[in-house]
Amino acid sequence: MTDWNIQSRARACTACSKPFADRETYHTLLFDETPGFRRSDVCDACWQKQYSEGARDRKGFISYWQGVYAAPPPPADAIKRETAEALLRKLIELNDPSYIPAGYILAVMLERKRLLKVKEQIVRAGQRVFIYEQPATGDVFTITDPALQLNQLEQVQRDVAALLEHGLNPPTAPETAPAAAPAEVAAPIAEPGTQSGPEEQEPS
Ligand SMILES: [Zn+2]
Repeated sequence: MTDWNIQSRARACTACSKPFADRETYHTLLFDETPGFRRSDVCDACWQKQYSEGARDRKGFISYWQGVYAAPPPPADAIKRETAEALLRKLIELNDPSYIPAGYILAVMLERKRLLKVKEQIVRAGQRVFIYEQPATGDVFTITDPALQLNQLEQVQRDVAALLEHGLNPPTAPETAPAAAPAEVAAPIAEPGTQSGPEEQEPS
């Protein structure tokens, strides 16, 4: 069973169905429900009326934050080449447990590039789970910490480098000497949420 998924920001208030306007403040609540997390985005009025009382002790929800809604970009801007984020989305959609380590490494890479932000860290069924937000779209990514050992890390980083280079379904190529890993995945992995330096590490 995997705990990871993507939950997009709603375009309208979950409570009153009023569409969000560009730059409107919204409130995101995460509920821990079977079988996964449920996200709810509500407008400021509904927040004040229905939920703010529970915010002090997170009554009924496990995480909460406030954001500013941005109207979706025109479709042309959405077309991207295979970036680390696009790859992470594909891995999450596949929901294949064997990709959990690669997904975790990708999320850490994206956090380092400030393309994802850790909103919450919780323990669920004995596993650490990170709630990441993509700040531009407001999408929320639930990423399970695979608790990688140091001796597993190198192999996972090679897997991620290969996925970034060839995509998920590479043509059946002979297994020859692997290319050198890109510098961006060669750096050691730090704890999510603890990156403090302004830049990525220099490749050595
Ligand atoms: Zn509302």
